[in-house]
Amino acid sequence: MTKLQEIDKIKLEERVKEAYSLLSPCHLCPRNCKVNRLKDKRGYCKAGLLPEIASFHPHYGEEPPISGCMGSGTIFFSHCSLRCVFCQNYSLSQMGEGSEVSIEELANIMLKLQKLGCHNINFVTPTHYTAQILTALVIAKEKDLKIPLVYNCGGYESVETLKILDGIIDIYMPDFKYGDNASAKKYSSAPDYVEVAKSAHKEMHRQVGDLVIENGVAVKGLLIRHLVMPDVRACSDRVFEFIAKELSPDTAVNIMAQYYPTHLAYKYPEIDRFPTINEYSQALQTAKDTGLNYGWRQTVSTLVREKKPEWKNGKAPDSDILTHGVGKV
Ligand code: SF4
Repeated sequence: MTKLQEIDKIKLEERVKEAYSLLSPCHLCPRNCKVNRLKDKRGYCKAGLLPEIASFHPHYGEEPPISGCMGSGTIFFSHCSLRCVFCQNYSLSQMGEGSEVSIEELANIMLKLQKLGCHNINFVTPTHYTAQILTALVIAKEKDLKIPLVYNCGGYESVETLKILDGIIDIYMPDFKYGDNASAKKYSSAPDYVEVAKSAHKEMHRQVGDLVIENGVAVKGLLIRHLVMPDVRACSDRVFEFIAKELSPDTAVNIMAQYYPTHLAYKYPEIDRFPTINEYSQALQTAKDTGLNYGWRQTVSTLVREKKPEWKNGKAPDSDILTHGVGKV
């Protein structure tokens, strides 16, 4: 049973009300813009009252237990409360690509993805549409949505909002982007990212615990993504230290090599390049040194852009260098 199946309809409707109460004035996320979203006013994220989505489809490129064999039912929302200068989805997150959908349409998209056989519904960058997603879930629950819900976010979340999702979301899949606020301020305009992300990750872990996989597919838990940046700008060591010491060494962590200089990264010479194999290898070693022992790394071919991102959880066959990555799934 998923959490959505388990939760009582009245309780779910109460959560919808709570979420909408955060929209006017809007303090759904740590930006705390205080605009009246109920009147379609737009704050930092540029999201209005109705949800906007850029695409939805079965996604086969997520982590193996998220994609499974039938794909993850991914819904890409437009807009974002972060401003990452290297965002690989900047056309939708920052330039607003996408179209408005009604709440009913959003619910139907979820049901369609379920009908296609997807293993889960994967809400990508959902934070600013939490209230609308919950409303759509009331409809989808009535129509027997019964696959796990994945909250795939940037890690810059308000604990107050996350608490509304307690008992509804099965899998949290946040980024933990930076271990240092100077980088977070410079590259994502989020000078308080580290403290905010730490509190948010603790709350997500409290709600769902470590990742649970059944028959090769994730059913509940926390999966954290960390993108290794050039010039150690993500301060990966501090991120891994926090996860291992303050969450759990058994936390599933995907240490990603797929950074490439896109969007506005050309303005910052130190990140206007791919990470080196040495930088990525060092991040993997640091993760291991902090005690993390579960998750994924990406292959060297991902790093040097020979192929699309590829997941690896053992020794990379094409490299002697990445022999010490986390991963024993
Ligand atoms: S969700 Fe958007 S409008 Fe609301 S506080 Fe966050 S950035 Fe501002």
